[in-house]
Amino acid sequence: MNCACGKKGIYHRKLEGNFYCKKCFIKNIEKKFMRTVGENKLIKFGDRIAVGISGGKDSAVLLYLLNEFRKNMSFELIAISIDEGIEKYRNESIEYAKELTKKLEVEHHISSFREEFSFTNDDLPKETKHCTYCGTFRRYLLNKKAKILEANKLAIGHNLDDEAQSVMMNFVRNDYSRFQRLGSISEDKMLIERIKPLRDIPEKEITLYAILKEIPFFPGECPYSFDNLRREMQTMINDLEKNHPGTKFQIVNFYDKLKPMLDKTGGGVNYCKICDEPTAMEICKSCELLEKLKKDGVIKEVAR
Ligand code: ZN
Ligand code: ZN
Repeated sequence: MNCACGKKGIYHRKLEGNFYCKKCFIKNIEKKFMRTVGENKLIKFGDRIAVGISGGKDSAVLLYLLNEFRKNMSFELIAISIDEGIEKYRNESIEYAKELTKKLEVEHHISSFREEFSFTNDDLPKETKHCTYCGTFRRYLLNKKAKILEANKLAIGHNLDDEAQSVMMNFVRNDYSRFQRLGSISEDKMLIERIKPLRDIPEKEITLYAILKEIPFFPGECPYSFDNLRREMQTMINDLEKNHPGTKFQIVNFYDKLKPMLDKTGGGVNYCKICDEPTAMEICKSCELLEKLKKDGVIKEVAR
């Protein structure tokens, strides 16, 4: 089937029934990205944006597009990678992050669990919920590092699939506070503003864009990610999408309609008694988990 421009189609977007040639597909993705940024006012002149980059497809495409976009708009861009210490995964993916930042001439900073917390994700005992610890510490470090580098925004590579999963995960966990903070821009007073410019683009279209544009990315998946809730949610939503095309968009669109009605009064701003980072509690989640690891004898003293 042919693209609207008459050329041979290489991608079929089932939801619309349209075929796209390479050139029109690329143009369409870039238009979508700019629309998300524009409609949600994600970027302002003079912003200093830190991009969390893992070396995977999403963050690679995010950095690439922001860098392209920067040519028309004046804002600064820096990249931050967090090395959680996952052998045969993160050490390899960070090499791709280095390659891309070098190619795009974007300043790149790497922060590691080893340096910051004196242990790695691989050091945690087998029975630990790795993703809970890893995710908490990664968010904490990204935020901390972005602040040190004087960024006023943190851009993350969440795509449409990720966002739909996040919405549904918060239902299952009954996590209202996290649920409130979803969306293309976080209104979390406690943290640096987080923006998600890829939020309206499905994962498979991001992969295709990266391949067509020859953006280097690490294709592997985290060895710890196979038995977590996000993975189960992904399988469930992908199954639904097969029989009910548009499910992912519907979940995210419904969230966006709901968001203005959500009560934002829950939880004031505090500062962690241990590390001074902003938190809704007395002690931040990251310090709470570190204390638990210390109590369990997994780590000795936290070097920070
Ligand atoms: Zn075309
Ligand atoms: Zn803390």
